[in-house]
Amino acid sequence: PAAGTVLLQAEGVTKRFGGLVANKDMALTVQAGEVMALIGPNGAGKSTMFNCISGVNPPSEGRISFLGQPVAGLEARDIARLGLSRTFQHVRLLSGMTVLENVAIGAHLRGRHNYLAAGLRLERAEEARLLAEAARQIERVGLAEHMFDAAGSLALGKQRIVEIARALAADPCLLLLDEPAAGLRYLEKQALAELLRKLRGEGMGILLVEHDMDFVMGLADRVVVMEFGEKLAEGLPEEIQKNPAVLEAYLGG
Ligand code: ADP
Ligand code: MG
Repeated sequence: PAAGTVLLQAEGVTKRFGGLVANKDMALTVQAGEVMALIGPNGAGKSTMFNCISGVNPPSEGRISFLGQPVAGLEARDIARLGLSRTFQHVRLLSGMTVLENVAIGAHLRGRHNYLAAGLRLERAEEARLLAEAARQIERVGLAEHMFDAAGSLALGKQRIVEIARALAADPCLLLLDEPAAGLRYLEKQALAELLRKLRGEGMGILLVEHDMDFVMGLADRVVVMEFGEKLAEGLPEEIQKNPAVLEAYLGG
Protein backbone atom coordinates (compact mmCIF):
# COMPACT_ATOMS: atom_id res chain seq x y z
CA PRO A 1 0.00 0.00 0.00
CA ALA A 2 1.10 3.58 -0.74
CA ALA A 3 2.31 5.76 2.15
CA GLY A 4 -0.69 7.32 3.90
CA THR A 5 -3.05 4.43 3.13
CA VAL A 6 -5.01 3.51 6.25
CA LEU A 7 -3.90 -0.02 7.10
CA LEU A 8 -5.56 -0.49 10.44
CA GLN A 9 -8.67 1.07 11.86
CA ALA A 10 -9.99 0.11 15.30
CA GLU A 11 -13.14 1.65 16.76
CA GLY A 12 -15.12 1.04 19.92
CA VAL A 13 -12.84 -1.78 21.02
CA THR A 14 -13.76 -3.09 24.45
CA LYS A 15 -12.19 -6.13 26.08
CA ARG A 16 -13.44 -7.62 29.33
CA PHE A 17 -11.80 -10.27 31.46
CA GLY A 18 -14.65 -11.22 33.76
CA GLY A 19 -15.43 -7.98 35.61
CA LEU A 20 -12.19 -6.26 34.57
CA VAL A 21 -12.44 -3.88 31.61
CA ALA A 22 -8.95 -3.99 30.09
CA ASN A 23 -9.87 -1.96 26.99
CA LYS A 24 -12.78 0.44 26.89
CA ASP A 25 -14.05 2.01 23.66
CA MET A 26 -10.56 2.23 22.19
CA ALA A 27 -9.95 3.68 18.75
CA LEU A 28 -6.81 4.01 16.71
CA THR A 29 -5.59 4.05 13.12
CA VAL A 30 -2.25 3.23 11.56
CA GLN A 31 -1.21 4.30 8.07
CA ALA A 32 1.36 2.87 5.71
CA GLY A 33 4.73 4.56 6.22
CA GLU A 34 4.15 5.79 9.77
CA VAL A 35 5.19 4.83 13.26
CA MET A 36 2.27 5.02 15.71
CA ALA A 37 3.26 4.67 19.36
CA LEU A 38 0.88 3.34 22.00
CA ILE A 39 2.02 4.42 25.46
CA GLY A 40 0.65 4.40 28.98
CA PRO A 41 1.37 3.07 32.46
CA ASN A 42 1.73 -0.63 33.24
CA GLY A 43 -1.65 -2.31 33.14
CA ALA A 44 -3.20 0.41 30.94
CA GLY A 45 -4.28 -2.23 28.41
CA LYS A 46 -1.67 -1.84 25.65
CA SER A 47 -0.82 -5.52 25.22
CA THR A 48 -4.53 -6.39 25.44
CA MET A 49 -5.14 -3.99 22.55
CA PHE A 50 -2.40 -5.74 20.55
CA ASN A 51 -4.04 -9.08 21.27
CA CYS A 52 -7.41 -7.75 20.08
CA ILE A 53 -5.92 -6.37 16.87
CA SER A 54 -3.82 -9.42 16.03
CA GLY A 55 -6.53 -11.95 16.85
CA VAL A 56 -4.60 -13.55 19.71
CA ASN A 57 -7.45 -12.71 22.10
CA PRO A 58 -10.38 -11.11 20.28
CA PRO A 59 -12.28 -8.08 21.59
CA SER A 60 -15.55 -8.39 23.49
CA GLU A 61 -16.96 -5.57 21.35
CA GLY A 62 -15.80 -3.29 18.60
CA ARG A 63 -14.80 -3.02 14.97
CA ILE A 64 -11.30 -3.65 13.68
CA SER A 65 -10.53 -3.48 10.01
CA PHE A 66 -7.27 -4.21 8.30
CA LEU A 67 -6.84 -3.06 4.69
CA GLY A 68 -10.54 -2.32 4.71
CA GLN A 69 -11.52 -5.83 5.71
CA PRO A 70 -13.20 -6.59 9.07
CA VAL A 71 -10.88 -8.81 11.11
CA ALA A 72 -12.33 -8.84 14.64
CA GLY A 73 -13.04 -12.51 15.31
CA LEU A 74 -10.69 -13.91 12.68
CA GLU A 75 -8.00 -16.37 13.77
CA ALA A 76 -4.57 -14.83 14.43
CA ARG A 77 -3.11 -16.95 11.64
CA ASP A 78 -5.60 -15.61 9.11
CA ILE A 79 -5.00 -12.01 10.16
CA ALA A 80 -1.26 -12.62 9.83
CA ARG A 81 -1.78 -13.95 6.30
CA LEU A 82 -3.50 -10.70 5.35
CA GLY A 83 -0.27 -8.87 6.17
CA LEU A 84 -0.23 -8.06 9.88
CA SER A 85 2.74 -9.40 11.86
CA ARG A 86 3.54 -8.92 15.52
CA THR A 87 6.13 -9.55 18.18
CA PHE A 88 5.38 -10.23 21.84
CA GLN A 89 6.38 -8.39 24.99
CA HIS A 90 8.77 -11.17 26.00
CA VAL A 91 11.28 -12.69 23.58
CA ARG A 92 9.87 -15.83 22.01
CA LEU A 93 12.77 -17.31 20.12
CA LEU A 94 13.78 -20.97 20.06
CA SER A 95 17.11 -20.26 21.70
CA GLY A 96 18.88 -23.47 20.65
CA MET A 97 17.91 -23.10 17.00
CA THR A 98 19.79 -20.90 14.56
CA VAL A 99 18.76 -17.40 13.64
CA LEU A 100 17.97 -18.73 10.16
CA GLU A 101 15.66 -21.44 11.50
CA ASN A 102 13.89 -19.01 13.80
CA VAL A 103 13.21 -16.58 10.98
CA ALA A 104 12.10 -19.40 8.65
CA ILE A 105 9.29 -20.13 11.12
CA GLY A 106 7.89 -16.70 10.23
CA ALA A 107 8.20 -17.39 6.51
CA HIS A 108 5.92 -20.42 6.72
CA LEU A 109 2.97 -18.06 7.28
CA ARG A 110 3.24 -16.95 3.68
CA GLY A 111 2.52 -20.45 2.40
CA ARG A 112 -0.83 -22.03 1.80
CA HIS A 113 -0.50 -24.78 4.39
CA ASN A 114 0.02 -25.01 8.09
CA TYR A 115 3.54 -26.36 8.10
CA LEU A 116 3.95 -26.06 11.83
CA ALA A 117 0.97 -28.34 12.36
CA ALA A 118 2.65 -30.76 9.98
CA GLY A 119 5.68 -30.77 12.27
CA LEU A 120 7.65 -28.69 9.77
CA ARG A 121 8.00 -31.73 7.51
CA LEU A 122 8.27 -29.78 4.30
CA GLU A 123 8.92 -30.68 0.74
CA ARG A 124 12.52 -29.95 -0.11
CA ALA A 125 11.68 -27.23 -2.60
CA GLU A 126 9.37 -25.56 -0.12
CA GLU A 127 11.95 -25.76 2.63
CA ALA A 128 14.54 -24.17 0.34
CA ARG A 129 12.11 -21.37 -0.45
CA LEU A 130 11.45 -20.67 3.23
CA LEU A 131 15.14 -20.63 4.07
CA ALA A 132 15.90 -18.32 1.15
CA GLU A 133 13.16 -15.95 2.28
CA ALA A 134 14.45 -16.10 5.86
CA ALA A 135 18.00 -15.35 4.70
CA ARG A 136 16.71 -12.37 2.72
CA GLN A 137 15.00 -10.92 5.80
CA ILE A 138 18.07 -11.51 7.99
CA GLU A 139 20.13 -9.54 5.50
CA ARG A 140 17.45 -6.83 5.42
CA VAL A 141 17.76 -6.29 9.18
CA GLY A 142 21.56 -6.41 9.10
CA LEU A 143 22.19 -9.70 10.91
CA ALA A 144 23.72 -11.74 8.06
CA GLU A 145 26.84 -12.47 10.13
CA HIS A 146 24.67 -14.24 12.73
CA MET A 147 22.61 -16.37 10.34
CA PHE A 148 23.97 -19.69 11.68
CA ASP A 149 24.43 -18.69 15.33
CA ALA A 150 22.11 -20.08 17.97
CA ALA A 151 19.47 -17.40 18.56
CA GLY A 152 19.98 -17.66 22.33
CA SER A 153 23.68 -16.82 22.00
CA LEU A 154 22.97 -13.30 20.73
CA ALA A 155 22.75 -10.19 22.90
CA LEU A 156 19.20 -9.14 23.76
CA GLY A 157 19.21 -6.25 21.28
CA LYS A 158 20.01 -8.62 18.43
CA GLN A 159 17.44 -11.18 19.61
CA ARG A 160 14.81 -8.47 19.37
CA ILE A 161 15.91 -7.76 15.81
CA VAL A 162 15.72 -11.49 15.01
CA GLU A 163 12.11 -11.38 16.20
CA ILE A 164 11.44 -8.48 13.88
CA ALA A 165 13.05 -10.41 11.00
CA ARG A 166 10.79 -13.36 11.81
CA ALA A 167 7.77 -11.05 11.71
CA LEU A 168 8.99 -9.59 8.40
CA ALA A 169 9.36 -13.05 6.89
CA ALA A 170 5.56 -13.33 6.87
CA ASP A 171 5.55 -10.41 4.39
CA PRO A 172 3.53 -7.88 6.42
CA CYS A 173 2.58 -4.31 5.58
CA LEU A 174 1.84 -3.65 9.28
CA LEU A 175 4.12 -4.57 12.17
CA LEU A 176 2.95 -4.59 15.80
CA LEU A 177 5.90 -4.43 18.21
CA ASP A 178 5.23 -4.85 21.93
CA GLU A 179 7.97 -3.08 23.91
CA PRO A 180 10.80 -3.84 21.48
CA ALA A 181 13.26 -1.53 23.29
CA ALA A 182 12.62 -2.81 26.84
CA GLY A 183 15.83 -3.78 28.60
CA LEU A 184 18.07 -2.73 25.73
CA ARG A 185 21.27 -0.74 26.06
CA TYR A 186 21.54 2.71 24.55
CA LEU A 187 23.37 1.60 21.41
CA GLU A 188 20.97 -1.30 20.94
CA LYS A 189 18.04 1.10 21.10
CA GLN A 190 19.70 3.28 18.52
CA ALA A 191 20.19 0.31 16.20
CA LEU A 192 16.56 -0.69 16.68
CA ALA A 193 15.32 2.84 15.97
CA GLU A 194 17.45 2.98 12.84
CA LEU A 195 15.94 -0.29 11.59
CA LEU A 196 12.40 0.92 12.28
CA ARG A 197 13.08 4.17 10.42
CA LYS A 198 14.34 2.17 7.46
CA LEU A 199 11.22 -0.03 7.44
CA ARG A 200 9.00 3.03 7.72
CA GLY A 201 10.86 4.54 4.76
CA GLU A 202 9.97 1.43 2.76
CA GLY A 203 6.28 2.09 3.50
CA MET A 204 5.78 -0.26 6.45
CA GLY A 205 3.16 0.74 9.01
CA ILE A 206 4.47 0.25 12.55
CA LEU A 207 2.42 0.19 15.74
CA LEU A 208 4.70 0.24 18.74
CA VAL A 209 4.15 -0.14 22.47
CA GLU A 210 7.04 1.43 24.33
CA HIS A 211 7.94 2.80 27.74
CA ASP A 212 11.12 4.66 26.91
CA MET A 213 9.93 8.23 26.25
CA ASP A 214 13.13 9.33 24.52
CA PHE A 215 12.82 6.36 22.19
CA VAL A 216 9.14 7.05 21.46
CA MET A 217 9.45 10.78 21.01
CA GLY A 218 12.44 10.47 18.72
CA LEU A 219 10.76 7.92 16.47
CA ALA A 220 6.96 8.12 16.49
CA ASP A 221 4.94 10.13 13.98
CA ARG A 222 1.84 10.01 16.21
CA VAL A 223 1.19 8.89 19.76
CA VAL A 224 -1.87 7.43 21.49
CA VAL A 225 -1.84 7.48 25.30
CA MET A 226 -3.85 4.92 27.27
CA GLU A 227 -4.83 4.94 30.91
CA PHE A 228 -7.14 2.44 32.68
CA GLY A 229 -7.98 0.80 29.35
CA GLU A 230 -9.12 4.04 27.70
CA LYS A 231 -7.62 6.56 25.34
CA LEU A 232 -6.39 9.53 27.33
CA ALA A 233 -4.86 11.54 24.49
CA GLU A 234 -3.71 11.36 20.90
CA GLY A 235 -1.42 13.62 18.94
CA LEU A 236 2.01 14.48 17.66
CA PRO A 237 4.91 13.62 19.99
CA GLU A 238 5.53 17.30 20.77
CA GLU A 239 1.85 17.79 21.66
CA ILE A 240 1.76 14.70 23.86
CA GLN A 241 4.88 15.78 25.75
CA LYS A 242 3.14 19.03 26.72
CA ASN A 243 -0.31 17.57 27.47
CA PRO A 244 -1.00 18.17 31.21
CA ALA A 245 -3.25 15.09 31.58
CA VAL A 246 -0.54 12.92 30.06
CA LEU A 247 2.16 14.40 32.24
CA GLU A 248 0.10 13.67 35.32
CA ALA A 249 -1.01 10.16 34.36
CA TYR A 250 2.03 8.84 32.68
CA LEU A 251 4.98 10.72 34.02
CA GLY A 252 3.64 10.90 37.58
CA GLY A 253 2.81 14.61 37.60
P1 ADP B 1 -0.20 -3.18 29.51
O1 ADP B 1 0.31 -3.98 28.33
O2 ADP B 1 -0.63 -1.80 29.15
O3 ADP B 1 0.79 -3.16 30.64
P2 ADP B 1 -2.17 -5.29 29.71
O4 ADP B 1 -2.93 -5.15 28.45
O5 ADP B 1 -1.16 -6.38 29.78
O6 ADP B 1 -1.51 -3.89 30.09
O7 ADP B 1 -3.18 -5.49 30.91
C1 ADP B 1 -4.31 -4.67 31.11
C2 ADP B 1 -5.15 -5.23 32.23
O8 ADP B 1 -5.76 -6.45 31.80
C3 ADP B 1 -4.34 -5.59 33.47
O9 ADP B 1 -5.12 -5.28 34.60
C4 ADP B 1 -4.12 -7.06 33.32
O10 ADP B 1 -3.95 -7.68 34.58
C5 ADP B 1 -5.41 -7.51 32.66
N1 ADP B 1 -5.25 -8.70 31.80
C6 ADP B 1 -4.46 -8.80 30.71
N2 ADP B 1 -4.55 -10.02 30.15
C7 ADP B 1 -5.43 -10.72 30.93
C8 ADP B 1 -5.97 -12.04 30.87
N3 ADP B 1 -5.62 -12.89 29.90
N4 ADP B 1 -6.85 -12.39 31.84
C9 ADP B 1 -7.21 -11.54 32.81
N5 ADP B 1 -6.75 -10.28 32.91
C10 ADP B 1 -5.88 -9.87 31.99
MG1 MG C 1 2.10 -4.91 27.99
